[in-house]
Amino acid sequence: MPLLETKNAGGYFAKANINGVVVSFHLTPFGQRQLLDAGIQPGKKFPLALLADLARAGHAWTTPSMAEQAGIFYAEQFDLNLVGDESAEGLFAACTNDGKLDDLHLVAWESSGRPILKLLCGACRAELPERFTLNVPVTLLSLGALSQLEAQGKMPAGDSVLGRLRESLAADLSASWEAFRRQNASRQAGLNFDRPDELDLG
Ligand SMILES: [Zn+2]
Repeated sequence: MPLLETKNAGGYFAKANINGVVVSFHLTPFGQRQLLDAGIQPGKKFPLALLADLARAGHAWTTPSMAEQAGIFYAEQFDLNLVGDESAEGLFAACTNDGKLDDLHLVAWESSGRPILKLLCGACRAELPERFTLNVPVTLLSLGALSQLEAQGKMPAGDSVLGRLRESLAADLSASWEAFRRQNASRQAGLNFDRPDELDLG
């Protein structure tokens, strides 16, 4: 489960364990408000599906420097007990080459006359000598934007990268927010003595 933390400079960021690695996410003011309004307090954990929902809408994103600024280390996941939530991990778009989440772009290029489409992190993009025919930050993508790009012939149609991206964007996570709000409200209404500190939404 991710953890909401206060930044030294003000505002909040989220730390999550995704595919075994602790990743820090910047949050837009809207994203911060969504989490606070759902009853998530700084220093508290919340379901990974909620962070996935913010990430695909562009309200939560990662950059390589974020991990350094926040002093995040791999070993911290054991101290923080940021247990991964495998069902929600698949909702995050990840680099096609190495699975990293940093600075992802959907890129297309031609190799020997064949169109190639990948989601690539900043490091993997930098290694490619090819000139991209498409290069869009994943935070700007929506189902509508994908359909437009496809219709304009900017991406190979029916690509598996595209299929996974569509699935992730189309997943309806509103039930995850609702379930969290309900469980949080009933927890606050109760006396809390015999309840675990963390919410388990499966
Ligand atoms: Zn990569």
